[in-house]
Amino acid sequence: MDYKAFFAQALDRLREERRYRVFADLERLAGRFPHALWHAPQGPREVVIWCSNDYLGMGQHPKVVGAMVEATSRMGAGAGGTRNIAGTNHPLVELERELADLHGKEAALVFTSGYVSNETGIATIAKLMPDCLLLSDALNHNSMIEGVRQSGCEKQIWRHNDLAHLEELLRAAPNRPKLIVCESLYSMDGDIAPLARICDLAERYSAMTYVDEVHAVGMYGPRGGGIAERDGAMKRVDVIEGTLAKAFGCLGGYIAGNAELIDAVRSYAPGFIFTTALPPAICAAATAAIRHLKVSSWERERHQDRAARVKSVLNAAGLPVMPSETHIVPLFVGDAEKCKNASDMLLAEHGIYIQPINYPTVPRGMERLRITPSPYHDDALIDALAEALIDVWDRLELPTRVKALAAE
Ligand code: PLP
Repeated sequence: MDYKAFFAQALDRLREERRYRVFADLERLAGRFPHALWHAPQGPREVVIWCSNDYLGMGQHPKVVGAMVEATSRMGAGAGGTRNIAGTNHPLVELERELADLHGKEAALVFTSGYVSNETGIATIAKLMPDCLLLSDALNHNSMIEGVRQSGCEKQIWRHNDLAHLEELLRAAPNRPKLIVCESLYSMDGDIAPLARICDLAERYSAMTYVDEVHAVGMYGPRGGGIAERDGAMKRVDVIEGTLAKAFGCLGGYIAGNAELIDAVRSYAPGFIFTTALPPAICAAATAAIRHLKVSSWERERHQDRAARVKSVLNAAGLPVMPSETHIVPLFVGDAEKCKNASDMLLAEHGIYIQPINYPTVPRGMERLRITPSPYHDDALIDALAEALIDVWDRLELPTRVKALAAE
């Protein structure tokens, strides 16, 4: 049996479909965000990153780096085991308090990633409710889809952000527990869920709500509590899930909710119980980021300002900016190979890093470059981005704005 051949064939399939992923070898330069070193085949070279999910540059904020260094020097590198074995390291206790406060909830529970929090959180919550029906938005992230799948419960998919469809499904399932699962801000299109109206439906049909705020926490709401905070719906959402790895610049995920629900997930979720806790240094750093963003709105305001400027400069240049109500700026390409070529040319010839977004992250035919401006992308960087994109668009004969809108 040629076992190696199975894997080689699997990779060949991806290459044939133009889905084989090549990662850029990058070294971020602390204090010089969004600049980084690209370890190119010809040697290291400085580039500008335009697609980081460290949306606010908090991964390099002096308070965050300082907290991490200080905690490591005092408490060492690792957590020493699962919480059951090693106890809960104190910075983790403080982090969970901070998160519960951020979302106005009784309690919060931290996991090793946002992915794990969705996967094990959704599965555990649904499983604990007898005959639970899961109602999942069609564009939910893979981690939520996995959570729904692993629950083993019946599921219904509602058309993306389509409240009439959600209501129809809710109405058809009286007298049983129901969990509505959605995101607040969808990261590929940059659109927002109508959270208050989803909560209206949940209340009317006696369903629970679980909202992934991964791409919104830190960035929206007066204290960075997310879209639910911004829209005045935070108290009405039963479970808020978030990440520490994007706007908070670190690593880890969490859910926040009422004390009983959080305690039940703590007690039943395999993805929480059977894995080593986050190290103290990461917890301390994440806490520093959350505390800072609770009181500083400079990052949030500048972030929105930069995103608006990028959209208007690229639109004025005739580039196919897909409509987005948020800080995400998707640029339509519509072809997997050309999307990869555009990204390669931007990096090699213009020192600009934007990764290609291809199937299965987006549907075939909707391939795109996903640009995420940060508070630190100044006007000069934005102008250089526009010039580089125009050059690449002309040479690859990529779609104009009009075609992009027709394809949507
Ligand atoms: N939820 C959504 C909507 C995401 O886009 C992601 C991906 O990054 C996650 C959850 C997973 O979060 P994390 O990167 O912390 O694992």
